[in-house]
Amino acid sequence: MTDLAQPERRFREVARGALERQGTQAALAAATGRLREARLSAWADLPDAEALREQAHEVRMRAIDDLDRYLDEFEHAAVAAGATVHRAATAAEARELVVGICRDAGAQLVAKSKSMATEEIALNDGLEQAGIRAVETDLGEYILQLAGEHPVHIIAPAIEKTASQVAELLRGVDGIDVRPELEDLTATARRQLRQVFLDADVGVTGVNFGIAETGSICLVTNEGNGRLVSSLPRVHVALMGIERVVPRLEDLPVLLKLLARSGTGQRLTTYTTLITGPRRPGETDGPEQLHIVLLDNGRSGLRRGRYREMLACIRCGACLNVCPVYRRAGGGAYGPVYSGPMGAVLAPLLVGLERAPALPHASSLCGACTDSCPVKIPLHELLLDLRRDLVSEGVASRAERLGFWLWSWAWSSPRGYRASTGLARLGQRFGRLAGPGRAWSAGRELPRLAPRRFRDRR
Ligand code: SF4
Repeated sequence: MTDLAQPERRFREVARGALERQGTQAALAAATGRLREARLSAWADLPDAEALREQAHEVRMRAIDDLDRYLDEFEHAAVAAGATVHRAATAAEARELVVGICRDAGAQLVAKSKSMATEEIALNDGLEQAGIRAVETDLGEYILQLAGEHPVHIIAPAIEKTASQVAELLRGVDGIDVRPELEDLTATARRQLRQVFLDADVGVTGVNFGIAETGSICLVTNEGNGRLVSSLPRVHVALMGIERVVPRLEDLPVLLKLLARSGTGQRLTTYTTLITGPRRPGETDGPEQLHIVLLDNGRSGLRRGRYREMLACIRCGACLNVCPVYRRAGGGAYGPVYSGPMGAVLAPLLVGLERAPALPHASSLCGACTDSCPVKIPLHELLLDLRRDLVSEGVASRAERLGFWLWSWAWSSPRGYRASTGLARLGQRFGRLAGPGRAWSAGRELPRLAPRRFRDRR
């Protein structure tokens, strides 16, 4: 039998911890508020945002509906351009593949740019076990690596850290004092990371989009580290979730437009890089080898069912910034990789509902996530569907299933309905629910039942 208590308890405990830390709450509120405002003003610039969202949805669903074909096309074109394409069915397989490529390259040091897919396959652990040092070069990821923590936001991984905490972590690297001011912090990280770019034997990146028509991969960054990681080391390994493929180059602009606006409120991210194959003869920079690892890890199982729209996600982070649960509980509560509404849907689908039973409930179902999603994923509806699955697959707790069964049984007959509403009328004198409903009703005003039932009025 599945032990639900442990993951359920974990979510509550981590969320409670975040609620109690004032620094975390202040950092979360400030950063998500800033990102929300920036997104709103960037969207206000668009003449017809709704039409763009429709178009983006169509592009993503076209790719997902015909995923096998577009992946084959992508592989064919990428190989023709000189890249080596690998396919990995599971996270473990992908990890072994990437570690094997690094080993074959004789790598001692790997420079990484931000990639949630590498988090998903726990690549750093695999490299460490193989005796290879991996250094994160995205500022937020670097900070978290120093802290020994995982990202808590898709685009702003260290969103919960305050400037003083970051200064302390950077000081720990070389003992040199740094003021908790933005410019000093970035300058220090830059100084500490510069040699890593120069010394790394292998650069590992994620992939924002893979273009089937040309076999190119598209990287979107704001710090420029993605360009250094993909061009300075001898070998570049790009890890791409299979759903990241888009059919044609002309499909890309609409996604780039919406990704930047939804993520950071920019019209376009600072660096948008298209890479087609490794360095060619006569070119002055670029890696000697480009390996693209296509990661399935449960994705192909989703593309035909009712959760297929989740594969359209372009990882912009907008749904996190508007979610009232994420904004208070923080990203750590959701688990080590994906957080917020997109994580609450995706994580149970990838790892199994029984391993993440709390996540479909980590939502007020207000629908703000769905409204903010640039590719129109009906996130709150998918969360409801997952809640249904929790019950129908027997993953929900016995008490919860019994409660809903009793409710359904009582309201299936006039006598049961009368008895239960009579009891509720009696119970409302206490103002609060008892048992498992106690926590739910503690922060809410319960609606009052009418003193006389409608049926009793004659
Ligand atoms: S679900 Fe939508 S809003 Fe959330 S990260 Fe993905 S694309 Fe962005």
